[in-house]
Amino acid sequence: MNTNEIAELQKKYLMPTYAPTVALVEGAGTSVWDAEGNEYLDFSTGVAVTNIGHCHPKMIHAIQDQVETLVHVSNLYFNEKQPLLAKQLSEKSGLPGAKVFFCNSGAEANEGLIKLARLWGSKEGKYEIVTMRQSFHGRTLATLTATGQEKVQTGFAPLPTGFSYANFNDLKSVEEAIHSKTAAVLVEALQGEGGVIPGDPEFMTGLRKLCDEKGILLLFDEVQCGIGRTGKWFGFQHYPIEPDAFSMAKGLGNGFPIGGVVAGEKLADIFQPGNHATTFGGTPLACSAALAVLEVIEEEELLANTLMMGAYLVEGLCEIAMKHKKWISGVRGLGLLIGLVLDVPALPLQKKLLEKGVLSIATAGNVLRLLPPLNVSQEEIDQALKLIGEACAELHGEMAEQSPNPCKCGMGK
Ligand SMILES: *Cc1c(COP(=O)(O)O)cnc(C)c1O
Repeated sequence: MNTNEIAELQKKYLMPTYAPTVALVEGAGTSVWDAEGNEYLDFSTGVAVTNIGHCHPKMIHAIQDQVETLVHVSNLYFNEKQPLLAKQLSEKSGLPGAKVFFCNSGAEANEGLIKLARLWGSKEGKYEIVTMRQSFHGRTLATLTATGQEKVQTGFAPLPTGFSYANFNDLKSVEEAIHSKTAAVLVEALQGEGGVIPGDPEFMTGLRKLCDEKGILLLFDEVQCGIGRTGKWFGFQHYPIEPDAFSMAKGLGNGFPIGGVVAGEKLADIFQPGNHATTFGGTPLACSAALAVLEVIEEEELLANTLMMGAYLVEGLCEIAMKHKKWISGVRGLGLLIGLVLDVPALPLQKKLLEKGVLSIATAGNVLRLLPPLNVSQEEIDQALKLIGEACAELHGEMAEQSPNPCKCGMGK
């Protein structure tokens, strides 16, 4: 089928929750191809999911071998892949005595995290969770309530109770949101959907101290930042702190659906039989895919590559930003989770880049989010930078005209 035929079929039979324009049919490494055979550099990685690139041979073999052996048995029985994967994640988390619960998506992982915090707090009558404005935690009823963005919540009232909101990177506002019923604070190391905003080190260390003083939990949503995306296994590892528990999903299966909750000692044995469950979570197939992902990240030293290539991409983007000071205000991010921050809407730039063969994501209105795979090469970044530079040059007149602040200079606003 060509793109028009696919679009027609989709329009007729799929709920219009998304509005895509390109049909992708094949991928290899950092490249993907559309139905007409056009190649794109994938700097969106299915929203921080395909961290080791498309169709990595290790991943293909792991899935093929497991499909031929055993796909699913439910959690009524042991399956050796699950504890093997949990051991890896427990060790990589650095949390002493950490244990894991597997599920299938980011929202589901956060649901588990929320239930874990509530069950922990229930003996003292604590249940409320403080989350951050501009955060993103998912689309189920509890997680969209945890998400501090009105646009995600509109139309879905009545929302579950038990959440309150504070400002990210503003310790005082978190302190003000905590009261006698508060069980936990939930935060991202870097707000991805919120506009690629890294947490300030003082905020993160202050949060840990505050939660300890108040006797409440500090929880991290690592769904987007986790599994090497920021150059560490988990985003919180950029700060000298440990959370009590965290969620993960996106990059864990490189596109094979799998999520999970990792809990340190204090929370590792709170869930007992009957408290929480899943039919699909942690199938032999999903765990085999995830084990392959972790092995590739380790063997190919992709954490180091992420930091190196991230710095290289930021440097190139800064050069481009300097040429377009009238409408680009800076570059920010961690590892290979990078935002080019504009003074104008980012959608026209995302569209122009798509035409030129680079996939990116316009986020939070004015941020162009760039998320290449963690094994991206310098040549691929050079190619993307060349095309981003061209796209910016072509849009310069139109964008500068719209910019509310056309004389401003300086970086990293
Ligand atoms: C994507 C995302 C989620 C939701 O994950 P789904 O798999 O789409 O349910 C939750 N939290 C963060 C930080 C995310 O980026």
